[in-house]
Amino acid sequence: MKLYPIESGNFKLDGGAMFGVVPKTIWNKTNPADNNNLIDLAARCLLVEDGNRLILIDTGMGNKQSEKFFGFYSMWGDHSLDKSLAKHGFSRDDVTDVFMTHLHFDHCGGSVQWNKDKTGYEPAFKNAHFWTNENHWEWATKPNAREKASFLSENILPMQESGQLKFIQRPEAGFLEQSELGFGILFADGHTEKQMIPHINHNGKTIVFMADLLPTVGHIPLPYVMGYDTRPLLTIDEKATFLNEAADKGYYLFLEHDAHNQIITVEHTEKGVRLKELHSFEDIL
Ligand SMILES: [Zn+2]
Repeated sequence: MKLYPIESGNFKLDGGAMFGVVPKTIWNKTNPADNNNLIDLAARCLLVEDGNRLILIDTGMGNKQSEKFFGFYSMWGDHSLDKSLAKHGFSRDDVTDVFMTHLHFDHCGGSVQWNKDKTGYEPAFKNAHFWTNENHWEWATKPNAREKASFLSENILPMQESGQLKFIQRPEAGFLEQSELGFGILFADGHTEKQMIPHINHNGKTIVFMADLLPTVGHIPLPYVMGYDTRPLLTIDEKATFLNEAADKGYYLFLEHDAHNQIITVEHTEKGVRLKELHSFEDIL
């Protein structure tokens, strides 16, 4: 198995919204805000080459929205999904499976693109299956008022219309030891319904793709929960359980949204679980 980080493009979001009830005087130390109160974020995907399969976990924002839309998110840097795939010798047509942790626009926007004459949309990975789960699909396609701006129908429906959509078979409860894609999956409901957190075993290490269960290093303390989460108290419970296990078992946490830290480990301290070490991607290969 080989793993590659795929940077799909950096953006910014309101620091207050990213930290919920935590005051700026505190979060500004770990995630410094700019003059508009925005903090740096990445949309760092993970490519898993496993035998004949090339699995891309999340796809970033894509490029089909208007300039005005992207203006809200203050795109920065010169990363793109295509450039990042090409850097490792791949193109989108090589991808056999696109796995989406959830269907918020910054995680799945890159899965769908404009068609040639810009009259409609088509899957951006023509040879891939697109993986979500049935509960999350139901949730995303009939969005509540709170998440409506995050679930954009043009990012979602074309995957089904193309016949390329597949659902992960989820156990009634608990951790899925081995999904159809080979890796284990933790299902978390605090951020959104049935977000999927991949656990990848590689060379004796467990690499966990944190998605929105832990967006940045600054979010490790338990009450540091995004204002976007639909069930913040549940996020706190899910984070507590996960971070304890991660500290016990020495998991490597791959941070999708942290623009400045790719991979971390955590440890138990008197204050609770805290950052142990920052790692570069090479440390997990
Ligand atoms: Zn999200």
